[in-house]
Amino acid sequence: MQNYKMWINGKFVESESGKTYPVYNPATGEEIAQIPVAGNSDIEKAVAAARKAFPVWSQKSQAERSQMALKISKILREHAKELGEVDTLEHGTPAKLAGFLAADIPEWFDWAAYNSRSLMGHTIPVSPDALVYLQREPVGVVALITPWNLPLLMIYQKLAPALTLGNTCIIKPASINSLSCMKLAEILDTVGLPPGTINIITGPGTSVGASLVANRGVDMVAFTGSTETGKDIMARGGQTVKRLQLELGGKNPVIVLDDADINMAVGGMVRQQCFNTGQICGSTGRFYVHEKVYDEFLEKFIAGMKKMVVGDPNDDKTEMGPLVSATHRNKVEGYIKSAIDEGAHVVLGGKRPGPPLDKGYYVMPTVITGITQKMKVAREEIFGPVACFMEKFHSDEQALERANDNTYGLTSWVWTRDAARGMRFANNIQAGTVVINQGHGGGPEFPWGGYKESGIGKEGSLYGLYEYTNLKSIQVDLQAQK
Ligand code: NAP
Repeated sequence: MQNYKMWINGKFVESESGKTYPVYNPATGEEIAQIPVAGNSDIEKAVAAARKAFPVWSQKSQAERSQMALKISKILREHAKELGEVDTLEHGTPAKLAGFLAADIPEWFDWAAYNSRSLMGHTIPVSPDALVYLQREPVGVVALITPWNLPLLMIYQKLAPALTLGNTCIIKPASINSLSCMKLAEILDTVGLPPGTINIITGPGTSVGASLVANRGVDMVAFTGSTETGKDIMARGGQTVKRLQLELGGKNPVIVLDDADINMAVGGMVRQQCFNTGQICGSTGRFYVHEKVYDEFLEKFIAGMKKMVVGDPNDDKTEMGPLVSATHRNKVEGYIKSAIDEGAHVVLGGKRPGPPLDKGYYVMPTVITGITQKMKVAREEIFGPVACFMEKFHSDEQALERANDNTYGLTSWVWTRDAARGMRFANNIQAGTVVINQGHGGGPEFPWGGYKESGIGKEGSLYGLYEYTNLKSIQVDLQAQK
């Protein structure tokens, strides 16, 4: 077992207190690493380093910063195998998927590198005697606070645009699986960034994360995590009027209409439900199925869930690994119990597997039916392989009303053979994304971000790049030049 260090001002350092916390392998429960707990003085050093680096980094040409982003992408791909192995070890991501992800997601740096070079300003035609033009500038020091559910992707999505556009960064990864981020520091240390351009500090969100958010030297907080924490960050960050980008939770509706291609819908939604063991903000949260096709859809869906291969993440045949931690498994099991207590029916799973998987934090693919709008499992995010089948609906209006009856608004699906009907739903669903007749697309081209309590701002696309810039208006009186 190795002890890891934080990366501050281009140097690997212990925390001043010397305190550490453990990271566990979720497939076996074994401790695999000790990670430093940052104290206030460590946080201040990271902020000072990022502030000092800002004029150096932000004043480089865009071409030079984009070249650096491409260099980072290349080196991350060279280390994809090692990064994938860490993901499997500390998160339980099935090895095949982890290897694919680690090789694929550096594309966020490529995309930021190319598109940052194409961000153009505008002029505003106010009068022939004045020139009014707009330019985009980096925001400053950005704190990147990320969740555990896809540890590296969550960092790359923020780091790539923030860094490439000239901001300096302080990353605070999730505690549960911070090992991926420590490996990332070792790789980034070799690329030749000015010291302090990226800093990585570790420790509990409630102390380290909260202090970063409150720190006057931090100009922006880019956060992905739960809505509860997002609200705390809004309140704390509001004290210094920080720029906030918040990617929060979801309880995403799936609407299956009576004219849907049921086999296609089942295939897509089983994969979506079990991807990353259901630990994904864009997971299928509530199934609304038309009464005419409900029985057929449910029967085929259960058959699909039964086929899901649950197992050791190191086994190439495994499609679904464990949940991330014992605490999280308790939470998921608590939701299953609450559904039963409130009168819903567990028709598949709801249990832990037996040996040899009993030491890990597994919950078998689960299907619950008979859920009403007011039940806890209808309103809250479970973040596990638990499909929630809501009461059957009989009209499009009823499906839409129920789908929108939730505080979240992240993503959604509609399955129908009638394109116009699907698009009428798309126009009226209160969510940042609506997907018609397919699983979820993802990648740096897509603007991703929620409505309602699912967040503020976008990640990905040009809108995602703009989040990391300030827009300046410059007004020149041309008459004075005469
Ligand atoms: P979380 O508990 O909110 O934690 C996220 C990050 O915030 C972690 O690094 C955490 O540190 C830190 N943190 C906790 N309390 C904080 C505070 N008061 N101030 C500042 N930072 C704080 O979320 P999670 O359980 O890791 O992740 C699951 C959630 O993320 C789900 O709700 C999921 O939907 C959401 N998510 C959303 C998206 C999206 O794109 N919308 C994507 C992925 C995940 P510790 O780890 O030390 O607690």
